[in-house]
Amino acid sequence: MASMRQNVCIIGCGHVGLVTGACLAEIGNKVICVDSDAEKVTYLIKGIMPFYEPGLAEIVHRNMSDVKLSFTTSVEEGVKTSDIIFIAVGTPEKPNGETDLIFVEAVSRDIARAMNSYKVIVEKSTVPVKTGDWIKRTIKLNNTHNIDFDIVSNPEFLREGSAIHSFMKPDRVVIGVESERVANIMTELYRPLNAPIIITNIQTAELIKHATNSFLTLKISYINAIANICEKLGVDVETVAESMGYDDRIGRDFLNAGVGYGGPCLPKDVAAFIRISEEIGYNFELLKVVQKINDSQKQQIVGKLKGVLWNLSGKTIGILGLSFKPDTDDVREAPSIDIIKQLQKEGAKIKVYDPKAMDNARKIVRGVEFCQHPYQAAQGSDGLIIITEWDEFKTVDLLRIKQLLKQPVIIDGRNIFDPVKMKELGFNYQGVGR
Ligand code: NAD
Repeated sequence: MASMRQNVCIIGCGHVGLVTGACLAEIGNKVICVDSDAEKVTYLIKGIMPFYEPGLAEIVHRNMSDVKLSFTTSVEEGVKTSDIIFIAVGTPEKPNGETDLIFVEAVSRDIARAMNSYKVIVEKSTVPVKTGDWIKRTIKLNNTHNIDFDIVSNPEFLREGSAIHSFMKPDRVVIGVESERVANIMTELYRPLNAPIIITNIQTAELIKHATNSFLTLKISYINAIANICEKLGVDVETVAESMGYDDRIGRDFLNAGVGYGGPCLPKDVAAFIRISEEIGYNFELLKVVQKINDSQKQQIVGKLKGVLWNLSGKTIGILGLSFKPDTDDVREAPSIDIIKQLQKEGAKIKVYDPKAMDNARKIVRGVEFCQHPYQAAQGSDGLIIITEWDEFKTVDLLRIKQLLKQPVIIDGRNIFDPVKMKELGFNYQGVGR
């Protein structure tokens, strides 16, 4: 049975908003996407994507030409022509770890003022528990025509780099509601995905998002702690992780030892959860340790390099990988940025290469040489650090890399190479936890 087509408005055309809008159009809805960034909207209208995400451009183009997907800077236009409105604006971290909800508040006010008939307002951005209540209050306060509305919490679990797949084939869809009426509307919207749909109240849905992301960081820091023990014992963490992963109770995902987690979600979401817990009277010590282990993973990479090269001052270091994970150009909170800054503090000269993220990195890091390919980053460098596990790096010509390096030193922050083979090739090679 075909799903009933809905008129949907998405506010915020970032990774989450644009992917959600494009995919909801793809499954048959009429979607209008709003962003306050006029330049971004102008590009989108021309079919130019604001960021790299595999498969996204094709879906956007197809649905724009079918007139199922459009873009505007006007919240009013978006709200008036839609029944379901998603708030997908950014929720950055304040210096004290709290979530900055200024964009969510502004959008809630704009929605309230533009409402002309019953609206479903969906909190899609990642927000602290109880934000749903605040959105509701803000809308009530600015709802001058007393229009009926419902609030929904529908947290997003997409993975950058495979965001279309995460949206189209989600492990589950979580919907936090206060009435059966809106539960039915949201269930109908997501029905074409054939995914398990979990209906809860709003606060539970908000908490599910915190609990999920924080658990993922827990897994990463756990395997990194195991990696540290492996290094002391001469055991290979990859074998340990592989074997642990076979256990249904554990699972293999997020058990990759390395330079630690980064990106626009995990670091800020953990900090926010610690902060929220504190506010409601719980000291979440476990997550504080997770953060500590993650910070020290980044420092260890530089320590390993110093262990081989001694002083870094005046030496040249090549970096492969800037994005926080492969298949994205996103460098927000990427471990590469911290590592580059540490190396610069030590007086090293830096050459970097990334297949997609160099334009974004140029806005953040200064004084580094941006290279055209991995070989240019290796040329004349005293050592090479691998920070992102792009497929392109897994297939480089290692003998050519060895010839180009001043010293055959590779610190592999993502364990993409086999240590035995690297030794055979004559590299001074160190991975993580092996
Ligand atoms: P983003 O920063 O890439 O995009 C946010 C967009 O909102 C920007 O284009 C900005 O111009 C726009 N915006 C801000 N204020 C606006 C306003 N008043 N009116 C209209 N547009 C406005 O953010 P993102 O990565 O898409 O994340 C959005 C939310 O989803 C955040 O809460 C984030 O934590 C959460 N989230 C992100 C991911 C991810 O992988 N990126 C995954 C799950 C959840």
